[in-house]
Amino acid sequence: MTKLTCYVTTCASNQNECCCRPQIQVQGRNACKCGETECQSFQKKGKGEMSNAVQYANANTDCTIKCTAEHCIYNSSGDCTASQITIDGNGAETRNETNCKTFREK
Ligand code: SF4
Repeated sequence: MTKLTCYVTTCASNQNECCCRPQIQVQGRNACKCGETECQSFQKKGKGEMSNAVQYANANTDCTIKCTAEHCIYNSSGDCTASQITIDGNGAETRNETNCKTFREK
């Protein structure tokens, strides 16, 4: 499990800079830097919606991170092994405006 801090407050699953999902998927198969990764689990919050309590009511401090960024030192067969990661993308409207700030190239 990874401690996840997420600054994508425009995401429906974000609550106080934590994610409410038990698992997220990070993308970046050919990524060589953090800007080339993105959170595939991003879902833009609807207008006037405080949070998406439909599926996941509580923020998780620990989360399972699946990740395709195989050039990252923390990636082990599609699982993120970092103890803590940060997803960036304050104000993101789309997935590609989000990224994994913890990415480190192998
Ligand atoms: S730290 Fe690396 S392996 Fe973990 S989610 Fe970010 S890019 Fe993927």
